[in-house]
Amino acid sequence: MRKIRYEEMLPAEFLDAVQHMPVFIVPLGLLEWHADHLPLGQDALKAHGICLRIAEKLDGGIVLPPVYFGRPGFSTYTGTLTFSEALVNLMLSELCQQLKKVGAKVIVFMVGHYGPLQEQCIERAAMILARENPDIRIIAHRECDGVEIDGEMPCDHAGKWETSMFMSMYPELAHMELLRDPPLPQKLYPNAPLDFYRESADWVWETDVHASNPELGRRAVEAAAQNFAGEILTALREL
Ligand SMILES: [Zn+2]
Repeated sequence: MRKIRYEEMLPAEFLDAVQHMPVFIVPLGLLEWHADHLPLGQDALKAHGICLRIAEKLDGGIVLPPVYFGRPGFSTYTGTLTFSEALVNLMLSELCQQLKKVGAKVIVFMVGHYGPLQEQCIERAAMILARENPDIRIIAHRECDGVEIDGEMPCDHAGKWETSMFMSMYPELAHMELLRDPPLPQKLYPNAPLDFYRESADWVWETDVHASNPELGRRAVEAAAQNFAGEILTALREL
């Protein structure tokens, strides 16, 4: 199988990959608290795993390493690092120009970290980039958008869906034996910069984290990857 990870490609492999399918897939996440049982990089690692699955399905495309710079975020929770809209906008804009330079015709920003600040920031940036660059196609949304599993959209924060997807892709990094319900109290950092949500110290699950299992996660990953792969093929046809 051809290589799909940008950082592992030799120059000749990179040129061949761009020629074969000029699609660049960027996993966007954050370093952020995800309860006691998931690692801080969960959003970006989850997105990266799904991006790799998309490229496998397409037998093409180039997956960038995960991006950990994003908008809040539970800014006062253990280990969370959050950034300004200006930084994220500039990062996306310059990355877009660089990827165009090396041959991108379709750029996918997979939003693996959620919340209105992040989602709206990426949506606005993607709309501007699309207008400024009519010669390429930009696809930007959460991995769960347009996906349904057993009548549910597979979206949450460290709950049934993220935990299941993580279990399926990174079994060695998901620690169900450390799952606490409720989790350890948070809000560790007083006067945190970019503390927009002013979240409470007590965590309430949006979905039943105890129902997490790798098979459910595998189905969600497959469905998300299939959805993006379809959009990418459509975008390539429209060029
Ligand atoms: Zn998350």
